[in-house]
Amino acid sequence: MTSRIVIVGGGLTGALAAVRLHEAGQDVSVHERREDLRRSTEHQGRSINLALSTRGLDALDRVGLSQALREQGIPMRGRMLHSRDRSVTFQPYSADPANVLLSVSRDGLNALLLDAVDQRQIPTHFDHRLVDIELRSSNAVFETNEARLRERFDVMIGADGAYSAVRNRLQRTDRFSYEQNYLEHGYKELTIPARSDGSYAMEPHALHIWPRGGHMMIALPNADGSFTCTLFWPYGGPVGFERVDTEGEVAETFHEQFPDAVDLMPQLADEYLRNSTSSLVTIRCGPWFYEDRIVLLGDAAHAVVPFYGQGANAALEDVTIFMELLATNDGAWGPTMASFYAHRKPDTDALADLALDNFVEMRDRVASPLFRLRARAEQRMHRWAPRWITPLYEMVTFSRTPYVDAVARAKHQTTLVDRLMLALVAVVLLVIVATIILVIA
Ligand code: FAD
Repeated sequence: MTSRIVIVGGGLTGALAAVRLHEAGQDVSVHERREDLRRSTEHQGRSINLALSTRGLDALDRVGLSQALREQGIPMRGRMLHSRDRSVTFQPYSADPANVLLSVSRDGLNALLLDAVDQRQIPTHFDHRLVDIELRSSNAVFETNEARLRERFDVMIGADGAYSAVRNRLQRTDRFSYEQNYLEHGYKELTIPARSDGSYAMEPHALHIWPRGGHMMIALPNADGSFTCTLFWPYGGPVGFERVDTEGEVAETFHEQFPDAVDLMPQLADEYLRNSTSSLVTIRCGPWFYEDRIVLLGDAAHAVVPFYGQGANAALEDVTIFMELLATNDGAWGPTMASFYAHRKPDTDALADLALDNFVEMRDRVASPLFRLRARAEQRMHRWAPRWITPLYEMVTFSRTPYVDAVARAKHQTTLVDRLMLALVAVVLLVIVATIILVIA
């Protein structure tokens, strides 16, 4: 049976959900708070770039978009670590060179998805901000520049991001749990422009990291030869957004912390002082549904910090899983929403923890020789015995293994890898001792 579906939010999740639900024969409309980013001057130029991987690409494949993205995106094969002494080290993400992250512009991806929505003639309403939901009568209330409008729905999809108005309304229903946690770090975007001949100023096929213990900077390549850098700094402290706030302090701190990058950033002080600092939040809530009428998808249900590069991948995968469950439940919304929440919530909770933990890994552990040795050993073991050992990063990024299963398997493997490494060290030591004894004898 066809339902009248109102999708709140025309971001990645909302646009993909619109296409998939339309293809399943539903009567869908999309309502987006902002103007159409494809026509907006505000959105031209700067945009977050995303590391897209298997979960996201698989979801986009289902609407015929992954090929276009593979052509537009820049493959990143591993991490390029920049030390204070200007030396660089490359760490591949996977033993399999086909496993790469794709650096894509979030706005570019959103535009592709909105084009897919238009191609299917799905009605879209920009500058429509959801301000209320009248639960009794199933009416969504939107505000535009001129008017307040009501839209009746059978089903509402809340795909309106981390600061979701749909979730906000559900918070005022009985027994809805909600938790938000901010990091003491924020982020700011900066640029390494292309060289004058249009070429990249650094290796383009890598995600660059300047790990500095308590803070870091990263850079992802763009198609135009530039890199978008993201500075993750604490708000307070000696190297922090609140302390560094003059041209002189910016130059001094960057020369000290990121000497090889600062040479490539001619607009540094200007950008640093002009660009806003944004906060980083983890949101956990539940249940993600109200009766058989409203469901939350993507960041609206589970916003995570960006350090595993999985927020958008998980949001897009939500749509895949929701559609699979809708088919399994013969189109019945209530059972679909309930099983989606039961099935997916443990996974996104696991992802939230992984993302927080990966911040420490990226800004700190990746620089340790022991970490690198272990990572290399794990990748080798994976090549020899893929059924027994698969690095956690590989399971999260290059497979659709449920996050919670990946974490459980990784815990089990850690013991195995530690034992194998110890055994290897013991054998090497034995050989050395035996050789010494033989030489002396
Ligand atoms: P959003 O993209 O937030 O879209 C929500 C939409 O709803 C927006 O268009 C918004 O305007 C609209 N909206 C909001 N309120 C209303 C309302 N009241 N009425 C109508 N419309 C409304 N993820 C990755 O997978 N890989 C990465 O490398 C990565 N890097 C990131 C780096 C940074 C710095 C950040 C902040 C995030 C990163 N992410 C990454 C996460 C990713 O951006 C999000 O997970 C993803 O955008 C979520 O998509 P969404 O559609 O659920 O929400």
